Amino acid sequence: MKITAIRTPDTYTDLHRCAECDHIFHRPVLKSGQTAYCPCCRAKIARGQDWSFARICCLAALMLCLMPMAWSLPLIQIRLLGMTISASLVAGIMQMVQQGDIITAAMVSFCIIATPLAFALSLLYLLVGRQLGMNLRPVLLAIDKLKEWIMFDIYLIGVSVAAIKVKDYADIFIGYGMLAFVSLTLLYILLVIHLDVGRLWEKFYPQPRQALRPDEVKCCIHCHYSGSSDHQGRCPRCHIKMTPRLPHSLQKSWAALISAIILLFPANLLPISIIYLNGARQDDTIFSGIVSLASGNIPVAMVVFTASILVPVSKVIVLLALLISIHARCEQGLKTRIRLLRAVKWIGRWSMLDLFVISLMMSLVDRDQLLAFTMGPAAVYFGSAVFLTILSVEWLDSRLLWDAHATGNAEYTD
Ligand SMILES: [Zn+2]
Ligand SMILES: [Zn+2]
Repeated sequence: MKITAIRTPDTYTDLHRCAECDHIFHRPVLKSGQTAYCPCCRAKIARGQDWSFARICCLAALMLCLMPMAWSLPLIQIRLLGMTISASLVAGIMQMVQQGDIITAAMVSFCIIATPLAFALSLLYLLVGRQLGMNLRPVLLAIDKLKEWIMFDIYLIGVSVAAIKVKDYADIFIGYGMLAFVSLTLLYILLVIHLDVGRLWEKFYPQPRQALRPDEVKCCIHCHYSGSSDHQGRCPRCHIKMTPRLPHSLQKSWAALISAIILLFPANLLPISIIYLNGARQDDTIFSGIVSLASGNIPVAMVVFTASILVPVSKVIVLLALLISIHARCEQGLKTRIRLLRAVKWIGRWSMLDLFVISLMMSLVDRDQLLAFTMGPAAVYFGSAVFLTILSVEWLDSRLLWDAHATGNAEYTD
């Protein structure tokens, strides 16, 4: 006897639970180029058919070809005391390692070398792994996370700031590596715009449509799957245990935030850069560096001030306010709070700018006792604080903000 699923009025096959606010709604069928947003929190849910996977992989392969050139060829060159000196990404990192700043060098390498390399290789792994029947789940989960840490755009701004800083001492020329680096950044931006990890999940691990009641629909925070769990309580798509909220979200977020606040004190009080000019040593903290930059170029000083002071401080204040509001079960300003969380997620990466500028300056201005630029002890504290604030946002389950709300499923009231 053939059994067919009967759709009763209270079960639906198109229900979707939002991973950011827990709101349940009917997911529409999307046409090419259309994007679906959560009606409650405006989070992006899905996008209609966009670029093919083959085209995405071609772009990733092209990125891999450009990477060695972008990293090793000179980005900028200067004429200093009769000598031509080049600065490349790898040279800057090596300079940091030679001076014993291994942790800071690792942070810069992580954001500009390790994560983009892993990102491009992961996409190609999907292509090969699918043919060989390999497990693609960890790679699909990683692709989504890696995007947060790739900072090509910020590094490019860092190159411009370094060039303006060095302009006082020497003539500057653009190197060949710059062309490769700009192309690499543009390819990456194009890839991020057209890459929809949700669609890749649907392509590699398609799930049958189930007729479910609204209270049966669960959401996987890791792969954003909406539906019921398997018999082991796991997400049927990514095989991670499905829990109503991210476990220990508040504890982890608080731990990272408090550590970041503690680290911001030495980061701002100790010198971040040291310049030797004709044997005389000049120590600069983040703030004094900005003040001296402001005397020559106010717009650039504003950029560095925003990235190095305004962004980390405001991010810490916003996160503190959000965490306290969750504990106080605050119901007001929900719309503002969710916007603030998204804003700190977006701007947080920009704080790495100062470290990128320093790594470039170190490889450019290195003429021993005559004129040299080295990194101060604050750099490692500053970099660690930035990483910790990014993790604090990453670990905060945004659905906790909505829990205080009366029903958790109502539309905005403010
Ligand atoms: Zn939502
Ligand atoms: Zn999942």
